[in-house]
Amino acid sequence: MNFSSKTVLVTGSTSGIGLGIIRKFASLGAKVILNSFTNTPEDHSLAEEIATKYKTQAVYQKADLRDPQEARNLVKKTPVIDILVNNAGIQLVSPVEDFPVDKWNEIIAVNLSSAFHTTAEAIPKMKVNGWGRIINISSCHGMRASPFKSAYVSAKHGLIGFTKTIALETAESPITCNAICPGYVLTPLVEQQIPDLMKVYNKDRESVIRDVVLARQPSKNFVTAEQIADAAVFLCSSAADQITGLSMPVDGGWTAL
Ligand code: NAD
Repeated sequence: MNFSSKTVLVTGSTSGIGLGIIRKFASLGAKVILNSFTNTPEDHSLAEEIATKYKTQAVYQKADLRDPQEARNLVKKTPVIDILVNNAGIQLVSPVEDFPVDKWNEIIAVNLSSAFHTTAEAIPKMKVNGWGRIINISSCHGMRASPFKSAYVSAKHGLIGFTKTIALETAESPITCNAICPGYVLTPLVEQQIPDLMKVYNKDRESVIRDVVLARQPSKNFVTAEQIADAAVFLCSSAADQITGLSMPVDGGWTAL
């Protein structure tokens, strides 16, 4: 599919899966909007690098998605959004009795509430435009739980419920809303959990990767950001016009267990 007439906004897209999705759509000719909360010179250079490499328009927009108003403004100030990918996510691994309240609130805000704010602002624009695709990056943790990840698992389950609700609310319009549920992808988000997991499980790095991180991923391979991006492209293709409300695992069999 040619995406050259489409504008794609991916939240939390300066690294990992979000950046993989940006690169894929840019390579297919789409105009892309990168986002994170940092607003560093490197963030802007990354957008320039993508614009040059893929010969398309790429801009960086700062928005701290812990703040509802910043999440809403991110969409408000973009005249056209054809494809919205709610990807930003953060994690903390801790037993619930020690789970810091501010971290619980931040994880729910970034991983769940920001999708509510961006979607609420994007749907009217998509309706005017006569086409729209919303993709929420949930997780295998939107379908299954793991100990010590109470806020993350709650937010990711919530995002699947939100996806189904938006699919029903937009069902008679040319807008679809789906979730992708990745298994483990070796991105900074996962890399940053490894020291915490080593502490909680009292294991070395290699054992934590094999016995904890990939214990429930039957393929015993990390999923790649490119594979998640390809799933997103499929959900935006005409083949998926009648797919809405789906939560699609890309997880090496994780949720088959
Ligand atoms: P990552 O840490 O590599 O990237 C996260 C991105 O979100 C970064 O660009 C970061 O700057 C941005 N971000 C963080 N806090 C933000 C905030 N307050 N406001 C705006 N942007 C913010 O993470 P990733 O592994 O690529 O994860 C991307 C998504 O995929 C997340 O929703 C995550 O839960 C989900 N996911 C990841 C995996 C995995 O194994 N990596 C598995 C399942 C689901």
